[in-house]
Order: sequence, then structure tokens, then C-alpha cells
Amino acid sequence: MSSKKIVIVGSFGVGKTSLIRRFVDDTFAEDYKVTIGVHILKKTVELPEHTVNLIIWDTEGTDEIEEIRKSYLIGTHGFIYVSDVTRPRTYENIGAHKDYLIKNFGNIPILTVGNKSDLLIKGSIAQKKEELDFLDMLVSAKEGNNIQRLFEKMAKILIS
Ligand code: GDP
Repeated sequence: MSSKKIVIVGSFGVGKTSLIRRFVDDTFAEDYKVTIGVHILKKTVELPEHTVNLIIWDTEGTDEIEEIRKSYLIGTHGFIYVSDVTRPRTYENIGAHKDYLIKNFGNIPILTVGNKSDLLIKGSIAQKKEELDFLDMLVSAKEGNNIQRLFEKMAKILIS
């Protein structure tokens, strides 16, 4: 079985901890607890031909990616960059942040996700989805939409 380190990055309150919690033990909490330092959780993903042990690092939220301690990021196999679809400020700098990660840590896969898709107003969802087209996936930690798919997608990329 291969083990892969995945680091979850993104601004304060976008739902990094919630997304991991939904994936690891299928729960969700409305309260907001700031992550201090780093939390590490593990979960196995079963793919048709492989079992992948994901070691998931939950980082402190930062608006500027340079603020994340480099020691957390060393040895990373894949990044998940989380933004909040209701707060454009959280996805405005994705391009620059991806460039920073690639420059400093090599050509590591980065999946970009817009979380809180449950909050997109139903009437304008199509238009909004187009606006968010540059993201790899829309997810909802609250409702569980696409969370399993996201981690399976990352696992597949990492073993290919
Ligand atoms: P983090 O700082 O990025 O780790 O964010 P948290 O996981 O602590 O979530 C911040 C807040 O957003 C909390 O109040 C969560 O309940 C809420 N939240 C997280 N994910 C979702 C989601 O998918 N939908 C909605 N409606 N709220 C969410």
C-alpha cells in the first residue's frame, strides 16, 4: 500500500477542517474552531487496483500562502487548495498561490476546490458555476457533495 501526504491549504474559514472531517469520519459541525499549527489525519482510499493511504495535513488558514511554514509543506505529494464560493477574495489569488507552490515544491499536483456549494443560490447556480469554472471541483463539506470524489481523484492522480 502506498502512503501519500496531502496538504489542505486556503484562507481562514473556507472549510478546510470541515472538508477533512466530512471525508474522514463523515461528520459536520456548524461551529468554527481555528486550527492552530497543523493537524494530521489518515484515511485509506480503495481504488479498483490500488489501496492508497492518505495522510492529510490540515493547516492554519492564511490569506498569503507564503505564511504557511515551509516545514509543513516539505515532502508533500499533493495539495488541495480550498476556497469558499461565497467569498471571491478566497479564490482571487489562486493562480499566484499555485505558482508559488510549484516554484517552491516542484510540479506537485494541485486540485482547486470551491467549498460551500450548498450556499450557491439555486436560481443563479448555473451562472455562478460558469464563473467558478476555473476551479477543478465544487464541493460541500456540509452536505457531503463531491468530498469522496475529490480525495479519490487526488489518490488516482498520485498513483498514476
Ligand atoms: P477552516 O478555517 O478553513 O478550517 O474552516 P472550518 O472548517 O472551520 O469552517 C469554517 C466555517 O464554515 C464553520 O462555521 C463551518 O461550519 C462552515 N462550513 C464549512 N464547510 C461548509 C459547507 O460546505 N457549507 C456551509 N454552509 N458551511 C460550511
